[in-house]
Amino acid sequence: MAERTETESRKLLGRLRDAMASDEPGQARLDRITGLIADSMLSEVCSIYLFRDADTLELCATTGLQAEAVHQTRMRLGEGLVGRVARRGKVINTADAPSERGFRYMPETGEERFRSFLGIPIQRLGEVLGVLVVQSRESREFSADAIYALEVVAMVLAEMAELGKFVGEGAALSALHQQSVTIQGTSGQEGSAEGHVWLHDPRVVVTNPIADDPHREMERLTEAVEQLRVGVDKMLEMNQTGDKEQLEVLEAYRMFANSKGWMRRMEEDIVRGLSAEAAVEKEQSQARTRMSQVTDPYLRERLADLDDLSNKLLRILSGQGSETGAEMPPDPILVARNIGPGELLEYGRSLKGVVLEEGSVGGHAAIVARALAIPLVVRGQRITTEALNGDQILVDGDQGIVHLRPEETVTSSFRDKMAMQAQAQERYASLRDKPAVTLDGETIALHMNAGLMADLPSLESSGAEGVGLFRTELQFLVRNHMPKRNELVETYTRVLDASKGKRVVFRTLDIGSDKVLPYMKTIQEPNPALGWRAVRVGLDKPGVMRMQLQALLRAANGRPLSIMFPFIAQFDEYRAARAEMDKAIAREERLGHVLPEKLEVGSMLETPSLAFAPQKFFDEVGFVSIGGNDLKQFFFAADRENELVRRRYDSLNVSFLGIVERIVERCAVSGTPLSFCGEDAGRPVEALCLAAMGLRTLSMRPASIGPVKSLLVRSNLQDIRKIISDARHRGEQSVRPAVMEYLRGI
Ligand code: PEP
Ligand code: MG
Repeated sequence: MAERTETESRKLLGRLRDAMASDEPGQARLDRITGLIADSMLSEVCSIYLFRDADTLELCATTGLQAEAVHQTRMRLGEGLVGRVARRGKVINTADAPSERGFRYMPETGEERFRSFLGIPIQRLGEVLGVLVVQSRESREFSADAIYALEVVAMVLAEMAELGKFVGEGAALSALHQQSVTIQGTSGQEGSAEGHVWLHDPRVVVTNPIADDPHREMERLTEAVEQLRVGVDKMLEMNQTGDKEQLEVLEAYRMFANSKGWMRRMEEDIVRGLSAEAAVEKEQSQARTRMSQVTDPYLRERLADLDDLSNKLLRILSGQGSETGAEMPPDPILVARNIGPGELLEYGRSLKGVVLEEGSVGGHAAIVARALAIPLVVRGQRITTEALNGDQILVDGDQGIVHLRPEETVTSSFRDKMAMQAQAQERYASLRDKPAVTLDGETIALHMNAGLMADLPSLESSGAEGVGLFRTELQFLVRNHMPKRNELVETYTRVLDASKGKRVVFRTLDIGSDKVLPYMKTIQEPNPALGWRAVRVGLDKPGVMRMQLQALLRAANGRPLSIMFPFIAQFDEYRAARAEMDKAIAREERLGHVLPEKLEVGSMLETPSLAFAPQKFFDEVGFVSIGGNDLKQFFFAADRENELVRRRYDSLNVSFLGIVERIVERCAVSGTPLSFCGEDAGRPVEALCLAAMGLRTLSMRPASIGPVKSLLVRSNLQDIRKIISDARHRGEQSVRPAVMEYLRGI
């Protein structure tokens, strides 16, 4: 019986191929295809529903339902049985459709006569493009064999590049790879870029889903899998001494490459008429659907490994992919599902922009993209399935929007915007060597934030007075092993050399929360942002902090040195950290190393508690730097990484400005130098208000120095202060409207 079905399957695929290849108009071909399927499945109805837009499915062809319903019957994603198949990417097989949960009766189709229903998602690499349905009068469940056969057919349909043409006028089927697509993601780094797609991990295009000679295909698959296994074993051999995580991935590769189940499923697909490539892709597609449904991070990782392995196999089979020597375009915009910080650094400044399907604003790739000043969009849904190597692409890092294969009009208005930005840059460049002095004569020192060697050239080009925050954890994050002391000495020496005497404030390791070192044991915490992080780790397990302090002292090699501790929440923590510093100095002295000619030791102020510390803290501490990102998240109890709440509270809220003012006053009493180094320091209006509250040093990303300076030199701080004070008296929640009103007039 199974034998017969396989032959039937192959026959059906052969006929489908003929139908696809014919030069009939698209609709006629699609109608013919539904006829062939209904016939082969011995069912009265076969229908194809395709997405008309992201939420709407449309009946595009049918044999057995009323012909008038074609292109008329539509349903929303999740609506009715068809909508449910599309939403879940899963088969629905029922002997009694009308009694099934969610059934929706569509009178125009005449489907009330049909009791059994089998709906199969038409999906390509985990993305559902539509639904293939067979129905019959007789109340019966379809057999596992029938389901399998239809899954194979659905796979072939998904591969039909011209599938979208059947939807009729104005349709926008995403799988087309010809039409322009706009993707709304999230901004990871500002800036705009125009260029051409360079896929980090190019997808192989399967051009021959149906094959005539299953024996030949089987041989091809076996040979390719063998080649894959040898490759994985070789990688494993070379990696025996490598890091644990890498090994875990390779072990998973080996497990899948030797998996009998995986192989058997692909062989069955081939027996039913698919080519070896299509069989691999069919399994990959199903793994992706599962991946989107599992929540366990370990399992997700493993499914992602299977996905990577399938790509490797496809490349071997088709001879396509990055190894084929495809040339990187001169203006590459990197498109990837995700990318590690190390890999991104390797591409370096050759990239014009980066678009990630996953990733996060605070993720490591984002940190690197920021250091390299490359526009970045994260969470660009479906970008890796939509984009093909070489496609024209516009990246709007300010809005988090990506235009793929854009229309002429979009391109030209995008270019206008870029030209305006370039003009503004020129204006800022003319201010570069001028101090930021306000109209009422206050001088604001503008420093930059950094964390990688790649940042240092900006010290010169941005006109920053120094590095107000050097995030030392980035050096730890972009490696896959704990750096040795000597490596750190070398890095910090290079940083100090490159700063050419300008002040650099090194912040000791700030890990934990979202910054997880790949080589350190992860601990599960219910709320990592409030957990064991930064100086808390440094004080509890002082080994790494001691090594870092020592490395900094050695790198200074007699030069002035500034160090600050992150996340100090109470006076004692500062004292304990300072004691570690003193111990490090004593040790260096004993060992005969030169000590810095001047040493400043400060504290970040990132929790509201520290604003209320005893005055003695402010007397003792060398300087204070407000970490506005963390301070704000704790002040408003709104997670800075959570899209739902992170923009909910305005930094110009009178309460937040109130705490900033209080910190300014407390530092003033002791004459303690104060700066502000959160993201708000780099936003011109926020920077202006911070200056009005009394801050005289701001540290920001290098690209913000120009815009901030340009606004400061045109403003009068006394005016702003008065505006803020009046707004407070009026009981306003945020001073933003009043300040914006003033700025419109300057
Ligand atoms: C801050 O919290 O504002 C800060 C500068 O530190 P980070 O963003 O690295 O937490
Ligand atoms: Mg912080």
